[in-house]
Order: sequence, then structure tokens, then C-alpha cells
Amino acid sequence: MAPYDSDSSEGEDNDFTETNVLLGYASADANGEEISRLGGRPDWIDPKNPPSSALARCNVCKDMLVLLLQLNAELPDRFPGHERRLYIFSCRRKSCRRKEGSTRVIRGVRISPDAPPAGSKENKPAKEAPPAPKASSQGIGEALFGVKPAAASIPRANPFATSSSPAAAVNPFAPKTAQPAANPFSAPQQQQQPAPEPASPEPDAAKDLPKTFAETLSLNNPQPHGPPPPAEPWPEESAQPEPYPVRWLSDAEYETLEPVTMPNLPAQKMEIDTSDAGGSAGGKEDKEVFESSMDATFQKFADRVGENPDQCIRYEFAGQPLLYSKTDKVGALLHVAGEGNVKVTTSGSKGFPRCGNCGAGRVFEVQLAPHAIEELEIDEDGLDGMDWGTVIIGVCEKDCQQRGVVAGEAGYVEEWAGVQWEELTAKR
Ligand SMILES: [Zn+2]
Ligand SMILES: [Zn+2]
Repeated sequence: MAPYDSDSSEGEDNDFTETNVLLGYASADANGEEISRLGGRPDWIDPKNPPSSALARCNVCKDMLVLLLQLNAELPDRFPGHERRLYIFSCRRKSCRRKEGSTRVIRGVRISPDAPPAGSKENKPAKEAPPAPKASSQGIGEALFGVKPAAASIPRANPFATSSSPAAAVNPFAPKTAQPAANPFSAPQQQQQPAPEPASPEPDAAKDLPKTFAETLSLNNPQPHGPPPPAEPWPEESAQPEPYPVRWLSDAEYETLEPVTMPNLPAQKMEIDTSDAGGSAGGKEDKEVFESSMDATFQKFADRVGENPDQCIRYEFAGQPLLYSKTDKVGALLHVAGEGNVKVTTSGSKGFPRCGNCGAGRVFEVQLAPHAIEELEIDEDGLDGMDWGTVIIGVCEKDCQQRGVVAGEAGYVEEWAGVQWEELTAKR
């Protein structure tokens, strides 16, 4: 799947092998990035139409959560006409740590009226797409983290900008900013919607419609079915917990790994000591590696992250998350015995739970890496900060829209967040 696995055994002369995982790096400098960042307060796709605040409350203490990550997750090839953003939230209270529901994720989506319908050929996810060549990789990186369309239209000093702009021009879906501006309906529709009216016409309308396959499927879904509860307004900012400082994800590049010098050795311990691998990682990762040296899954995690120690997020839609543990609750759910892999989509009792909005399967999209904690807590003293190892996000593979939200309007759907907590002590 990832190219480095097959390439590494051939003993090529390449210094580094590139994987399909896009890494995001944080900086205090926005560098033109306007959306993707750690910390701050959420910028909703439609600021006039935020999600219900109920989606951003801690399920443990019911307090408002704070933003860890806001990501521009548009995938114009896979979901043309979809504006997409992911928002990962976490509870500030120490008493909520290690408790389910203290970390949540919202997927914001606005689907253009011109977008091809879900399930059409163009919209079908390419399951095993070959590794993207360099040029288009650049484009994906830009779409995800970096260059905004406004910026893209202005030639910059970046030598890659010119090479990628012809592709962007050919792609009819690329100029995404044109969509909201060109869409004459989005604003009027906003006003037409009677927001304060508690009883919306949705229940009647839903009765008149035949059930789709997805809706029928979702009847078997344990999550609540039917019209969503009335949206809860957001409290004043002064009544919300203090946000983390903004750290822009202004730099993104595909993960590169050092060539494997000693392939197929079952024990990976020696790799930690090689002079180059993770040489700039600082002491923390190394220390953790030794403390948990019996845990091969953790060691693989530490080795892999240690090769690019400043990574804050790892992104690959429908790819493989890097597990911090395969024995905790999240690891047990996602890990497939004998494969060394995780289920990338819902299947039976394994893999991500199905989408609670449409019943489709979920796939991996992004995970937070430990260095994100250092960036988020850069202003904080002490060692009593967040203590997760990684936060893994699974999203609807169809990028469905919130029920009752029409084309051209922004909707918000809760997705699946799995937290793998830092191990307090090495296992055995
Ligand atoms: Zn809480
Ligand atoms: Zn869905």
C-alpha cells in the first residue's frame, strides 16, 4: 500500500522514500494559510451558520470543548464541489482526561448545487489509487494545508506554484472560492431558513420521501435517528474556555522515510540508536521508546514519527492510521490481527463505527501526532499538559451532508475520534 514497503527491499539508491501520508507542520507564521491550524477558535464554513454548540460540548462534564485542530480537508478529485473542514475539539478539564467523549470531531461540509450526485462515477472514491506523482502531490498538499485559491491566483515566489497552476486551471473544481461567490442562492437561502422556529417542516417532509438505501441502513445504526434536535446557540466567547494559541499548519509535505538498512529484522530496537533516525527528535521520544521497548506497536509509532519529529498531523484519506497501541480500546477496534494493519473502513465489529448521519462506512482521514501538544501548549508551564499519544479521526467515506441541509448550505456532522492515551507505565 504505502510505497516505502515495497521499495525498501529493492535496495535502491534513493536516499529517502516517500509515503502517501501528508505531514502537517506548525508555525506561528501563517505564511498565507488561512484555515488549517492548531488552536484558536473555530472558523465555520459559513460563520452565520455554525453547528449546534451541543456538538462541541464535553460528553463528560458538558462544558464547551476547545479547538485542537481545524483542517481544510477539501479533496476536489474525490469530492468535487465539496467544501470540507475538520474540527477536532478536546476538554480542558484534567478530570475529563482519559474519558470517552472528552475529545470530539466535527466535519463541516458545503456541497455545491453543481456537484455530481453522491455515488456517481466522478464521486466514487478511488480505493487503491496509485501513489500520486510529485506534481499532483504538490497540488493535494496545497489544497489541504496551504495555498488558498486567492493566493494561487497571485503568482508567488514559490517555484512550485507555477508548475501546479496549469493543473489547477484544467480542473474545473479547483477554483473553490468561485463557488461561494458565484452561488447566488447561498445567502438568500440562509435567510429563508427560519432559524428560531423550533418545529421545522423536516419531519413531514421526511415522511413523504422514500427511504434511501443509506437511510434504511442507518435504521440499524445505534445512533439516534430522525430529525436532529434544535441547534443550541454558542455561548459568548468570554464564557468559553480559553483557546489554545494559534499555530498555523502552513507547511505540508509527504512523509519521507530513511531507507531501511536492516530489513526484516523482527526487533526494531537497534534502529532507534542509528545516528540519523530521529536525530533531532529531542529527548522525549527516545525516553519513551526505551520505557516501552517491549511494545512493538508503540515502538513502530515512535520510530516512524521520530523520522519526522516535528510533524503535528498525519493525513491520508482512507489510508492507514499509525497506531500508538494495538491493545487499548481504540487499537483493539482498529487493529486487524496478523496484518499489522488496521481496517480502513467499517466491516463487522472491526474498524471505525459507521457514519451516524448516513450509515455509510467510515475511513481514516487524519491523526494528531505528539508534537502537536508541544505546539498547543507552547505558552504553558509544567509537565501536566495533555497526555494523549495520538488522536485518530474516522470520517464518513461518502462525505455526506447533514440531514435537512440543502445544496449550497453548510452542514455539520459529528465524526469519530479515537484517543490513544499516553501509557503511564510500560506494559509488562
Ligand atoms: Zn469535560
Ligand atoms: Zn455519512
